[in-house]
Amino acid sequence: MSSTILVVEDEPAIAELVAVNLSFAGHKVLRAADTIAADTLIRAELPDLVLVDWMLPGTSGVQYARQLRAHERTANIPIIMLTARSEESDKVEGLDSGADDYVTKPFSPKELLARIKAVIRRRAPQLTDDAVEVAGLKLDPLTHRVSGHASPLELGPTEFRLLHYFMTHPERVHSRNQLLDHVWGDHVFVEERTVDVHIRRLRQALVPSRHDRHIETVRGSGYRFTAQPTSPAA
Ligand code: CA
Repeated sequence: MSSTILVVEDEPAIAELVAVNLSFAGHKVLRAADTIAADTLIRAELPDLVLVDWMLPGTSGVQYARQLRAHERTANIPIIMLTARSEESDKVEGLDSGADDYVTKPFSPKELLARIKAVIRRRAPQLTDDAVEVAGLKLDPLTHRVSGHASPLELGPTEFRLLHYFMTHPERVHSRNQLLDHVWGDHVFVEERTVDVHIRRLRQALVPSRHDRHIETVRGSGYRFTAQPTSPAA
């Protein structure tokens, strides 16, 4: 599992320790010493997870988590708060601010990595290497293989990412814009009709096992991946 993680921490020694360990675990690390620098980085690239220290100069980690939650673009970023022992009693406030988890200093790098993995698994399962299976359709991010009722299916790289996102977020309607953000990456300027092109290719690739029926067009809204298709064919 490789994710982009933004570390907002003003103590250089801790920031360095965290960054080294996250990089070693295969993550891409962005570093900021305060929330102003963090905002600049986020404007350029939306990270997969934000690791924010509670006590920061200027805007605190708790206030920052609230800010991230309040803006549409950053509302769903998984957030882990780093806290000092003295702030233990205030943890409820940390979670109320919208943080998904908190890690108390001093922490072991191993514990931190485990917490990150757990939060990403819960909040952004498409970023993990876990194989997914829905109604006989199986996708394995590690081997990059897809099969329908045990027969291999050939998918292009974009169709693979699209299917992975769908399968980890089933039964929900995704607008074309949301699919662009999650599958193509935000700040990537592609026309919405590009999504339709790749949906068409994805459906074609799934025809051999008849899993194309699982990708439903929701008129006026977008697309949905369902475990139980209602229509015979899309
Ligand atoms: Ca601090």
